[in-house]
Amino acid sequence: MSELNPFKIAQTQLDEAAKILGLDEATHEFLRWPMREYRFTIPLRLDNGSTKVYHAYRVQYNSARGPTKGGLRWHADETIDTVRALAAWMTWKTAVVDIPLGGGKGGVTCNPKDLSNAEKERLARGYIRTAAQFLAVDRDVPAPDVYTTPQIMAWMMDEYETIKGHSHPGMITGKPIPLGGSQGRGDATARGGVYVVREAAKARGIDAGAAAYAIQGFGNAGQFAATLHPEILGGGKLVAVSDSGGGVYNKDGIDPDKIVHHKQETGRVANFPGTEPISNEELLELDVDILYPAALENVITGDNAGNIKAKIVCELANGPTTPEADNILHDNGVFVLPDFLANAGGVTVSYFEQVQNTYNYYWTLGDVHSQLDRRMTDAFKAVYAMCEKEKVHMRLAAYLVSVSRVAEACKLRGWV
Ligand code: NAD
Repeated sequence: MSELNPFKIAQTQLDEAAKILGLDEATHEFLRWPMREYRFTIPLRLDNGSTKVYHAYRVQYNSARGPTKGGLRWHADETIDTVRALAAWMTWKTAVVDIPLGGGKGGVTCNPKDLSNAEKERLARGYIRTAAQFLAVDRDVPAPDVYTTPQIMAWMMDEYETIKGHSHPGMITGKPIPLGGSQGRGDATARGGVYVVREAAKARGIDAGAAAYAIQGFGNAGQFAATLHPEILGGGKLVAVSDSGGGVYNKDGIDPDKIVHHKQETGRVANFPGTEPISNEELLELDVDILYPAALENVITGDNAGNIKAKIVCELANGPTTPEADNILHDNGVFVLPDFLANAGGVTVSYFEQVQNTYNYYWTLGDVHSQLDRRMTDAFKAVYAMCEKEKVHMRLAAYLVSVSRVAEACKLRGWV
């Protein structure tokens, strides 16, 4: 099972890059581990009057290039190792899009589907009551991730400001717009992913506007990918989507707006009219041009990688592909846009949100889109150039770009 421990995977990926870059031993060892991590408990008063204790985490992986930044995940399978892996990937992600931030991540082991809104609010405030000591705009800044929302960010900011006695909108991002959120944050992850698909299609000579695409995971990232794909690429046929309750398929195409509406109305993609059921596993192996994994880790493994038929895999999810699978996909000519490049749009607009909070002046949606497009396009070009130069797959190329930037910052600070 250790192959599927996401932190071991993150370390293995780094090891490979360190070897090619010829990193000295101290720098390599320093980058293999989080600089700081916090584990704490949150006693939560439930609506029925009883109290349940939840386990919570915050990992500040590396702050050489700036304050650590990364989302908060509320998930039943959350462990310190998933948080460490995600924090490591945030470090490489902020570096690959070249924004002046480090990487962090946090989470609570819980099943939010079992919690009422009032319980979620108390859990959010409980998290901040402990974490306020080590979060700050110039220190470590959380954001939404799996099963956390702008509303949860709003409660967290309010609790933080209540504790500190000042306005601190930049202490957290992904806030609702009336509380200092940025235009364009909601769809930023998917938008950034579709921008890099556009660049990848150009580089690989694929007509993205005529491509068939499928999406695994139909939350924030997956739903926006469904609608933005045709908007940005000027066409494309969505043939399958899935969520934790299973998937739906229609080889002739599914209307992206209608399936998003159906998911929002019913909470599921299942039973969407005119489609047949498909499992999450089958969806990954469909004969499509572009596949967006947008759910959780380790869905493309040594067992199924050989059956992936997509020409481009755009990893909106974090860690969907294991290292063994990576090599198989590469050998089979599948072009993978690795997670920390493909889903960097979210943190990039989070960074824009922090910038706007700091100077207390807000950008238009058009400003956000053009700045995001520029950052994502530049990041793709840097990674693709590395991929061509070193003759390595795109994930390794992305590591080479990011790890060298983070290592350089550590050295300039005199840490290693
Ligand atoms: P979300 O909570 O909005 O949606 C998650 C989706 O995954 C839901 O549709 C859920 O039903 C589905 N899902 C859960 N378990 C599944 C399973 N076993 N099989 C298939 N589907 C399953 O989360 P999100 O914000 O869309 O994040 C999805 C992925 O994208 C995560 O890996 C996250 O870390 C990554 N990501 C998100 C952002 C962001 O800004 N939202 C940024 C970077 C990366």
